[in-house]
Amino acid sequence: MDFDVVIIGSGPAGGMAAVQCAEAGLKTVLLEKVDLPRRKVCAGGVVKRAIQLLPNDLDYPIESVCDTVELRLHDPETSFKEHREDLVTMVDRAKFDYSIIQYAEKKGAQIFDGVEVKSVQPHENHVEIVTAEKTYTTAYLILAEGANARIANCFWDDDRVLAPALESEVMLPPEKLAEFQGIARFDFDVISSGYTWVFPKKDHISVGIGHFSTKKAGLNKIFDAYKQQLGLTGEYEERNRKGYVIPIKPRQAPYMKQRMILVGDAAGFADPITAEGFTYALKSGIEAGNAIVKGNNPDEVFELYHEAIKEDVVQELNVISKLSKPFYFSQKIRKILFKRYGERLCRGMANVIEGKQTYHKALSKHDFIARLVLGSN
Ligand SMILES: Cc1cc2nc3c(=O)[nH]c(=O)nc-3n(C[C@H](O)[C@H](O)[C@H](O)COP(=O)(O)OP(=O)(O)OC[C@H]3O[C@@H](n4cnc5c(N)ncnc54)[C@H](O)[C@@H]3O)c2cc1C
Repeated sequence: MDFDVVIIGSGPAGGMAAVQCAEAGLKTVLLEKVDLPRRKVCAGGVVKRAIQLLPNDLDYPIESVCDTVELRLHDPETSFKEHREDLVTMVDRAKFDYSIIQYAEKKGAQIFDGVEVKSVQPHENHVEIVTAEKTYTTAYLILAEGANARIANCFWDDDRVLAPALESEVMLPPEKLAEFQGIARFDFDVISSGYTWVFPKKDHISVGIGHFSTKKAGLNKIFDAYKQQLGLTGEYEERNRKGYVIPIKPRQAPYMKQRMILVGDAAGFADPITAEGFTYALKSGIEAGNAIVKGNNPDEVFELYHEAIKEDVVQELNVISKLSKPFYFSQKIRKILFKRYGERLCRGMANVIEGKQTYHKALSKHDFIARLVLGSN
C-alpha cells in the first residue's frame, strides 16, 4: 500500500483533512489538479464559527475584518445591521487555502500539485487512484474535489442542487472603499431567488450574486444593474468576473462508500440560504480525517464520520434547505418578512455566524413553525 490516506482537492475541506491525518502520523498525500496556490471563484468571507475550526497556530493573510453584517432591501430603502467583534474575516482564497496546505505539509502531508486524478477503483482492502503519470494505492480516499465532483459522481447519485453564482473584484480608491469597509453586506431584493453581496477587501470589494433557483435569471445583466445601484461606474476597474456553482442541497447519505469519504462541496455541504461553505468544508474535512485516524476498520470509520457530522452538518443543512424554499420562493413574502422581522433575522444571522446558534436548535424552540416548515421530520 502506497499511502494510508489520499485526498483529492486542496480546498479547505481537503486541506483540513490532510492536517488531521498527517498530524496523527498517517502516511498522507493530497493531490491537486492545478498548480498551487490556485485561484477559486469565491467572495472570501470566512465567518467567525469557521475561523474557530482552524488550528490556533495557523498563519494566514487577512484582507480585512468585518464587525458588522448588514441585510438590505432597496424598495423602499431598508437596512438592518448587527455589530459584533470579528463577525466575518475577509481573505484572498488562493492565499488562505494555500496557508492550510502549507500547514498540512509542515505536519507531514505530501502535497502533489498539478496532478489530476483521472479515475478511481475501489477494492475490498484498498483504493486505486489513477493519474496521468502514476497509479497510487491507499487504505482510504477522501473526495474533496469541490462542486464539480467528477470522481464522486461516478459512485454517488448527484442529487445535490447546484446554484449558479457570479463574483468579481471592483478596484476602489480609499475614499470610495471607505463606504464599504467593516461591513459584510447582503441585499435581498436585487434578484428574486437569491441575493447580492459586497465584501470589502484591502484595495477592492468583492461584488457578487447567488441565484438559488433552477430558472434562468440572466445573472450578468442583474449584476451590472447592481453595480449601478452601488455607484460603481465605469471609472472603477472590474477584474475577474467569473461564475461557478454552489451546492445548496446536500447529497443523500451515506457519505462513505467502499473506503471513499465525501467532504465539503463534493458532498453538497454548503448553506442553502447564504451559500456559506467554509464552516461545512472545514468541519467535514476535520471529521473525515479524525474518523480515519480513530477507526480500526472501514465500518468504524463509517460510524465515526456519520456520527460526527450528523447534527451540525447534515441535519443543519437539511433544515436550512427546507427553510430556504419559502424564503426564496417569493420576493413579496421576503419583503414582508424583512419588514416585520428584519432586526431579528439580522441578529439571528449574527448568532449563526458566531456559532452561538444553529437553525435546527432555533427552530426546535418553535414547535408550530418547525412542524409547518419541516413537516413530520
Ligand atoms: C461565487 C462564489 C462565492 C462564494 N463565497 C463564499 C464565501 O464568501 N464564504 C464561504 O464560506 N463560502 C463561499 N463560497 C462557497 C465556497 O467557495 C465552497 O463551499 C468551498 O470552496 C468548498 O470547499 P471544498 O474544499 O469542498 O472545495 P474547493 O475549494 O472547490 O476545492 C476543490 C479542489 O479540488 C480540486 N480538484 C477537483 N477535481 C480534481 C481531480 N480530479 N484531481 C485533483 N484535484 C481536483 C480543484 O482544483 C479544487 O482545488 C462561494 C462559492 C462561490 C461559487
